[in-house]
Amino acid sequence: MRKLACHCGAVEAEININNLEKVMRCNCSICKRKGAIMSIVKNEDFKITKGIDKLKLYQFHSKVAKHYFCSECGIYTHHNPRINPAMTGFNIGCLDDEDSFELKNINIADGRNHPLDKK
Ligand SMILES: [Zn+2]
Repeated sequence: MRKLACHCGAVEAEININNLEKVMRCNCSICKRKGAIMSIVKNEDFKITKGIDKLKLYQFHSKVAKHYFCSECGIYTHHNPRINPAMTGFNIGCLDDEDSFELKNINIADGRNHPLDKK
């Protein structure tokens, strides 16, 4: 179990994960602005434990993906991706016990050319 917290501490979550197996960045229009390094779990393995009322939801384009951030400090905490809303992507930078600068093998998700945008 890992603990996630935004910068100000208003929002906290517990993630049922030990090793971060999938580590990625994404080049879509929102992720390139956030610049976060992310990992992903099933929704049932991600529980907000504090500050659910402080979370702000941001949606754009197809409005399927749900991008959440703390309304106090502005930090991106997690999202439900469009490709699979049953999963929760989260900000590895919000894990105190993980140094995102030490991570190797960071995959680049090609969100810029999203498969659901292809005709
Ligand atoms: Zn915060």
